[in-house]
Amino acid sequence: MSDAAECIFCKIVSGELSCQKVYEDDKVLGILDIYPFAKGHCQIIPKRHVQWFYDMEDEEIAHLARVAKLVANKIKKAFNPDFVCSFVRGKRIPHVHIILFPIFEGDMLDRFFGALDLVQLFPGEIAKLAPGSVARKIRDA
Ligand SMILES: [Zn+2]
Repeated sequence: MSDAAECIFCKIVSGELSCQKVYEDDKVLGILDIYPFAKGHCQIIPKRHVQWFYDMEDEEIAHLARVAKLVANKIKKAFNPDFVCSFVRGKRIPHVHIILFPIFEGDMLDRFFGALDLVQLFPGEIAKLAPGSVARKIRDA
């Protein structure tokens, strides 16, 4: 279990560390990443310390997702990228953060995610995984 006392995002929420806010309400904070992938790269974080999104209360994660959608639309309006990419982490900084960043076709991030296509499994390999049993295993878990 991660420790809120040592958490960078909790220190930002408490005001101990400074940030560039793009959104704030009583439950959620949206900030610019200090080591951005691109101009407009933001982190959407709950004010409560929790490491993994699947450990959040249903309404808490729903609200976090609503704020991420709102800020993604603001990034789209501010920078007019082709789209805004998003994923959720809790690993490097052990506090849920929805990462949002604009992507322009052919930019570094677009090429990075395009490169991931090269490591995806090919149909022959997928068949070896027996996808029916994989789906059943997840459904039945
Ligand atoms: Zn935290």
